Amino acid sequence: MARVALISLGCPKNLVDSEVMLGLLQAAGHEIVEDAEAAEVVIVNTCAFIEPAVEEAIEALLDVVELRGDGGTPRVICAGCLTQRYGEGLLAELPEIDAFVGPGSVAEIADVVARCAGERSRAGQLLVQAAPTWLYSAEMPRIRTGREWLAHVKIADGCSHSCAYCMIPSIRGPYRSRPAEDIRREVAALIDDGVREICVIAQDTSAWGRDLDDGWTLARLLGSLDLGAWDGWLRLQYLHPDGMVPELLDAVAGVEQVVPYFDVPLQHAHEAILRSMGRRGSAESYLRMIADIREAVPGAAIRTTFIVGYPGETQEHFATLLAFAEQARFDRLSAFPYWDEPGTRAAELPDQVPADEALDRLEALMLLQAEISLEVNRGLVGKQMRVLIEGEDEETGLAVGRSCRDAADVDGEVIVDGDAPEVGSFVDVRITNAEEHDLRGVADRS
Ligand code: SF4
Repeated sequence: MARVALISLGCPKNLVDSEVMLGLLQAAGHEIVEDAEAAEVVIVNTCAFIEPAVEEAIEALLDVVELRGDGGTPRVICAGCLTQRYGEGLLAELPEIDAFVGPGSVAEIADVVARCAGERSRAGQLLVQAAPTWLYSAEMPRIRTGREWLAHVKIADGCSHSCAYCMIPSIRGPYRSRPAEDIRREVAALIDDGVREICVIAQDTSAWGRDLDDGWTLARLLGSLDLGAWDGWLRLQYLHPDGMVPELLDAVAGVEQVVPYFDVPLQHAHEAILRSMGRRGSAESYLRMIADIREAVPGAAIRTTFIVGYPGETQEHFATLLAFAEQARFDRLSAFPYWDEPGTRAAELPDQVPADEALDRLEALMLLQAEISLEVNRGLVGKQMRVLIEGEDEETGLAVGRSCRDAADVDGEVIVDGDAPEVGSFVDVRITNAEEHDLRGVADRS
């Protein structure tokens, strides 16, 4: 048995796999350590959806190799999307790495570690890469990392959309939902464990159930969760506009603990660009969708993501996007310059937008959103909001947390004046100041 450290890169979906790997390793008798320098085996669970993520993954792997002493430890295992994307090619490209394990082979991680830790591994590299059909279940051991009051529940893996710029379906396989009963069990266990916020995630969370062919939908799943009198938040992330049906809006409005937060990446608003991306919708249909959300779920916070500088995006297309963002008045908005990813359909498209032009468009969009975000936040001054306390603000030393309008690590924070409430607890806060991202207020202890 070995001392094992794990470095998790990428998004919360990858983090869930990392946490299950840690659970499987511990259950098999391996010792989990935090510090890579103290480990005999280090696993880097990689992300590889675009080139910068690939570069970050390789850098992280080679940084661990640098720690290797004369005894050949730590052994280094590359897990996750990098293995799935490049497979056998990695053996020659990264001869320093002891083993490669794809996301379809998570269940074998303890065995791979045992094989790597022994002398045998020096004989050659291992590649363990099954088809990406694996799904974790509530029964699997899992060691949650990070904030103890927050947990991610991945309800599905893979994606069956075919957005022209995206490698995910080829890396993660087709969409596959976990059974409803299994998700219900996991949610119940997390609530028993004292978790205050559950983030429900998948590549497309709103598509959950479609592949089960037994009438389950995300809305029905939400209604079936045994949340009882749970004092906590359940947040849906990564919703697809095609899945924003009235039934789902009603479920969000109707289940007390489901927060009125809609994270719906739209990617663009001009019909021609959306079609080129392989996506449906238009500025008009998206504005209707946003109006429907705001009508069905009063006070809803809506977040979206856009890509600027997509191949063929003209000034006119971009002007449509800007006008749309101005009308939609998103509560939160992120945008990224298009990344030309080899192997995608978009990479073959003509009329690539020069990088400096894409950056100018990004700046224009983000400047517009900064004004909108500030206005939206100023509208909250004087209101009372429930805040989940998470720590201390570095600058002021005051308590800091998030309202239900803020997802962890991507949205703003609320700084709370006065005596610090306990970390991981909820407190009612009256908002006194607003900035573009963050709010400030005083705890209402009455
Ligand atoms: S829906 Fe998301 S994960 Fe699926 S192909 Fe499109 S961008 Fe990729």
